[in-house]
Parts: sequence; C-alpha cells; structure tokens
Amino acid sequence: MNRLIKMNLVLVIASLVTLSSCSQASETPVENSVQSPTSTATTHGDDVVQLCEKLTAKVKEFKWKIEPCKDITWVASGKSVEGSPLIYAEFGNPQAKNTTLILSMVHPDEITPLFTGIQLAHWMKEHHSELNETRVVIAPLVNPDGLFRKKLTRMNARGVDINRNFMTKDWETQALKAWKTKYKSDPRRFPGSAPNSEPETAFQEFLIEKFQPRKILTIHAPLNHLDYDGPSALSLAKFPREYVRECLKLRSRLKAVSTGFFPGSLGNRAGQELGIPTITLELPSADPRKAPAYWKKFQSGIRSMIEFRIDAASLKEQNDHKSASLSPPVK
Ligand SMILES: [Zn+2]
Repeated sequence: MNRLIKMNLVLVIASLVTLSSCSQASETPVENSVQSPTSTATTHGDDVVQLCEKLTAKVKEFKWKIEPCKDITWVASGKSVEGSPLIYAEFGNPQAKNTTLILSMVHPDEITPLFTGIQLAHWMKEHHSELNETRVVIAPLVNPDGLFRKKLTRMNARGVDINRNFMTKDWETQALKAWKTKYKSDPRRFPGSAPNSEPETAFQEFLIEKFQPRKILTIHAPLNHLDYDGPSALSLAKFPREYVRECLKLRSRLKAVSTGFFPGSLGNRAGQELGIPTITLELPSADPRKAPAYWKKFQSGIRSMIEFRIDAASLKEQNDHKSASLSPPVK
C-alpha cells in the first residue's frame, strides 16, 4: 500500500511499503554452498563474451534499443551459482574520493532496472569529461541466473533472495525467524541457510570492500519510491555528527524516505551497519516497454546523487568503516 506524497522534477517519492510485489516465481529454497568472488579480475574473457551474447539476446526480447556490451569494458569478479560471470565497470576519475556504487538486477524479475543499469554505463562513458571529480562503479546484473531462466525469478539459482542474505548483525537471530513467521515461508523471500552464503551477495560485499563507496544506489522495481538507509539522527552515537548531517542532506536532496530495513538486506548491511548512505530507487513498474521512459525520468536524479559530495567524510568516518569491517564469506 503506497502513500504517494508528491512528485518533484526527477524523483517520485513516498511509500511505507517495503516489500516487493513482483510476479510469482516457483523456486523453493535448497541447501547452499559457497562460491566467493576472487580478486583476480578478467576483462572480457570468454565467459564475459558469452554473457554479453546472452544479454544482447535478452535485451532484444525486451525490444530495447541498447547494446549491453558495446564500448563498455565489463570486468568479471567471481561467478554466479550457475557459472555466469559477475560483472562491473568503473567510470570517472579512479582517484576521486567521491565514489558511488550502483547496483541493479538484484531481483531479475523486476526487469526495468536492467535497462537503467546498462544505459547508465553508456551515459557515464559519454559524459566522462563532465564527471572528473567522481568515480562510479556500476554492476548492472548482480543476479544473472534469475534473468536467464525460462521464467524470470526474483531469487538466485538456489532460491535465495539476495537482498536478505547479507551478514547483518541480526541475521542469525532474526532472518529465518522473520521469514517463517512474518513472511509465512514465502520462497520469494528466503534469506538462505546462512548469511553471505551466495556468490551474488559476496560479490556485492566485494565491491563495497574494494571501492569503499561514499554512497550506494541500488535499483529495483516496482514500488515507485526512493528509500534511504544510512546514518540518521538515531545513529549519532555510532557516526560523527557532521557526517550524519551530510548523509541527511543527501536524503533531503533526493527527497527520499526511510521505510525501514530487513535482516540481511543491503540497506541494513551497508546503510545501517557500515554507515554508507544507501538509496534504493524503486522504478514504477517492471514493464520493459516503459524502461526507456524511466531512464529519461530518473537520469537527472541519479546524476544528482553521483555528484553529491559528502565532504564531512572524515578520517574518523573512514576508521568507523574499518572497525565495522566486512566479514569473509561463510564457508
Ligand atoms: Zn527488488
């Protein structure tokens, strides 16, 4: 049940709803084993070329006039459960501290975020010279296995909801309990048998660890709002006051709302625990025909987020990040 408040120039906001209402899927959870990303990156190796072919065919199915791989150097780090490379690309100034990590297709049946992720990579490439004070890392297809199934799924190939599988402090006590009671064991929200058990989760942890982003944007659909997780007035004891103030300026600039977070979610892990302001852009629908219009609608808002500087990110803040350092994937 959304509570639309108002629409500004670029971003539709507001909702108290935090659960995705994507189309139904059929997987049931199964036992996991771990495949974590390696630090050895490959640039357009055979596996990426193969992925590009599959992705190009998929994009045609959606009737999008977009080339997923032309002129973009995707780097692979680790593989999905079914062996697809997990890809990202880096844009802007590699020395810039103002780094934004952008993730899309955590839930592949939401479809439209794929267009946004790929289009954004092209846009970054074309506007390289305008953005020399920033660095942007884009991973447009976090969960490839869900996209390449006959019927697109929210979960990964082992039936795990990647946005409930992060190793948050409340995972052990809350994640499976909440899944069984609150979500009545809905297979679409299965958090996995253990935290960080999935390669697609470990891939996102790897990107956060490697690039130490100042901000994270994760793109979903179809809830039609902008959600903020991160330092707030409630976390003043945990993070420096000035830093919290800067993070809240970002929330205010984007007119984002805070709708809460879940055990094992990215917002909980990165936003609440690591203190990296994490914005979830929920596009208005999963209809692939509307994806190009969504790009037009939201691109200036995304640019605004990319350019936003969190100047109060002090040494203390860096130390806070380190003290909440990332745990290795569960074996
Ligand atoms: Zn989603």
